[in-house]
Amino acid sequence: MEINEIGVVKNDVQETKKHSFFRDVESTIEVKEEFVDGLQEIDRSDYLQVIFFFSRSKDYNLVGPRHGGKVRGVFASRSPRRPNNLGSTVVQLLFHDGNKLRVKGLDAIDGTPVIDIKPYAAPFDSSSPPEEKKKNPRREINRLVKTGDLENLLLKAGELHGHYCPFLALGVTAGSYAVNELGETPGDMEELVAVLETNSCFSDGIQYSTGCTFGNNALVYRDYGKTAVTMAIRGDRGVRLYYKRDNYLEENYPERTELFEKVVKEREGTEEDERALKRAWAEIAFDLVHVPAEELFKIEQIRTPDLPDYAPIFEDEYCDLCGEKFMAPKGESADGESTLCIPCAGDSYLQLNGSGLREVS
Ligand SMILES: [Zn+2]
Ligand SMILES: [Zn+2]
Repeated sequence: MEINEIGVVKNDVQETKKHSFFRDVESTIEVKEEFVDGLQEIDRSDYLQVIFFFSRSKDYNLVGPRHGGKVRGVFASRSPRRPNNLGSTVVQLLFHDGNKLRVKGLDAIDGTPVIDIKPYAAPFDSSSPPEEKKKNPRREINRLVKTGDLENLLLKAGELHGHYCPFLALGVTAGSYAVNELGETPGDMEELVAVLETNSCFSDGIQYSTGCTFGNNALVYRDYGKTAVTMAIRGDRGVRLYYKRDNYLEENYPERTELFEKVVKEREGTEEDERALKRAWAEIAFDLVHVPAEELFKIEQIRTPDLPDYAPIFEDEYCDLCGEKFMAPKGESADGESTLCIPCAGDSYLQLNGSGLREVS
């Protein structure tokens, strides 16, 4: 077997770093002249699979503690120390110019030899082919929850949440812990219910990891303003997790806290500060998912959880004024004759926003 280097990685990273560090790192892959023709039409791909050589890795363990301290076989890990020292990562292609490919997310240090490049094709390379996904859209998420792969779960939860932050990570941690503790596989039914006590970033981590959402009525919201959730199975038991480490971030990341005060609380940060905070948040989030839930949360078993009934199916009504359809119990016929929707009647209503659940009149 003969393998030739087709190019080399150029970036600012000189030392080996944690995998998550590389997520935002941009690198240039310089392809050797004799292979440049092979890049024709590569711009059609937004993502590439890059195979490279961990040139600094010398030895390896077939079984050993990996990232996060868990003991695993080398083929069940992304460790750079492997029998053939090959790394493989899906990266974002930013642009292509001559023999140079500018990419983002390549977890290789400066000078790493590149062995192969291929377009990343979701139907072949992703673990959930579309047909499987149609049968169970949460298959991949549930697998990540079950196997405790919280790093990849957080990575996906960011697609919903829009950014990576510590409280999203806490939500993912709490949700996964509770689902595993209850031994229930989240589906699309309302048997598994989440009772959330906050509408902060935490709530998106819970919705993503448990499948209990605002839209499928498996999410109950109690406006307590606590970073806490009770996960429960209808007619059975539940478990409540309350985030107990109020000062965890201040203690472990003091400089980040100062940045947070400046940018968010005092609104005095520069654009550079904001970017730095975003990076710091993401870094902390990806650290946090490796902290055991027991260290972060007060965890209580709930024998008979207090849950509201299943969501009822409402009759429809039409508003006499605007003609729009609404769920019957939400409107009124003030004079006993006309049927009006809430806005047309000018009635007060409940609104869930950044302040929580508030009556608006
Ligand atoms: Zn957030
Ligand atoms: Zn109306």
